[in-house]
Amino acid sequence: MKKDITIIGGSAAGFFTASLLAQKGLPVRIFETSESIAPSPRTLIVTSRVSDLTGSLCEGTVINRIRHYELFADGRFATISLRRPDLVIERSELIQQLATRAQASGAEILTGRHFLSFKPNGKRLNFAVSSNRDGKLVEESTDILIGADGAFSKVARSAGCPKQPTVRLFQAVVRLPRDMPSDTTRVWFIPEDTTYFYWLIPCSPTHGVLGLIGDKEKRGQRSLTRFLERRNLIPLEIQSARVPLHTHWLPIHRRIGQSHVYLVGDAAGHVKVSTVGGLVTGFRGALGVAEAILNGRSSREFRALRLELNLHQLIRKVLNRFSQADYAKLLDLLTPSVKHSLGLFNRDETGKLLLNVFFKEPRLLLLGLRSLLIGR
Ligand SMILES: Cc1cc2nc3c(=O)[nH]c(=O)nc-3n(C[C@H](O)[C@H](O)[C@H](O)COP(=O)(O)OP(=O)(O)OC[C@H]3O[C@@H](n4cnc5c(N)ncnc54)[C@H](O)[C@@H]3O)c2cc1C
Repeated sequence: MKKDITIIGGSAAGFFTASLLAQKGLPVRIFETSESIAPSPRTLIVTSRVSDLTGSLCEGTVINRIRHYELFADGRFATISLRRPDLVIERSELIQQLATRAQASGAEILTGRHFLSFKPNGKRLNFAVSSNRDGKLVEESTDILIGADGAFSKVARSAGCPKQPTVRLFQAVVRLPRDMPSDTTRVWFIPEDTTYFYWLIPCSPTHGVLGLIGDKEKRGQRSLTRFLERRNLIPLEIQSARVPLHTHWLPIHRRIGQSHVYLVGDAAGHVKVSTVGGLVTGFRGALGVAEAILNGRSSREFRALRLELNLHQLIRKVLNRFSQADYAKLLDLLTPSVKHSLGLFNRDETGKLLLNVFFKEPRLLLLGLRSLLIGR
């Protein structure tokens, strides 16, 4: 008999996992706490890897293509041109498309149901959900439970995983400055304001999102307001939420009796901490979980994803210690051949990217090592 699958969380990672499993004929149900599948708008930038993973689906959700990056640090400036453009995506549209695909593949979506906890019951798992409409508690059961319920996953908590550290991302929709080409993303490194960076990503010829990652409580919103004021940019809308930081590989599979519990997406902490991007890595984790369920063994995708996330963690460790002078030095070391490599490989193939860049400019490796060993 086919094992039945329950996914908690109707968003990017949950719906993608649902499609992969339902397409293979497995019975899949998705429980989503929101009353309908109408996520709030959020502009995301992702590498072309997303098209390799989702096929034609994401094409309809692409609102812009980024061909160049302009980097700024302490009066220095560098441009990197991409071989394959990055895609700017409207997340709410992507989630709706993924939901439609999951349903067309045979998955059932149940909205307005809030997952509370699970417990083993013989060969199956029992889990409690409350109905948002009348607060009624219902006990359900399943063979396989997948937590795709985001940064504060209750499935992960119920499975005994520790709380993940999170950071708040803020971005404001703004009118683009007159001198800004709509195929270019700008990035500013100002470690005094944030250990991450500011970004301005055009989402149309006239508008873009300007944002930063709030590494310290309260500092993020304040820094963003100041940065906008200094550039005479008016925030037309704010998009903000907390995203987990990958600090170590969570046990994303638990066997409980004859049942299984898996985690995907933000619930599993599958976020690249160098840039705090979680869409592509969330899809890769979903692919790994689907393969593990379908083939009954650990997926190669997990090993590759783990290495990728660890490399981003190493890069983040280095950058967290960077001073303004280090960023200036970094930009000075971006010779034409290094820039060529940075345009050839993307941030979802970090191993190849680092090897290539260090081969072309070993002083970049020294800069990173010095930062790791000595710090600011
Ligand atoms: C402002 C901002 C900008 C970002 N920019 C980028 C970017 O440019 N590129 C990129 O790759 N990433 C970006 N990210 C991160 C990216 O958006 C997330 O990593 C990704 O959307 C996570 O998807 P997910 O499906 O794992 O989780 P989520 O989208 O968080 O979905 C979790 C779902 O579970 C549901 N849920 C939660 N609890 C329960 C429960 N108890 N019962 C039932 N349902 C539940 C929620 O309602 C939600 O629908 C950004 C994040 C923010 C906040």
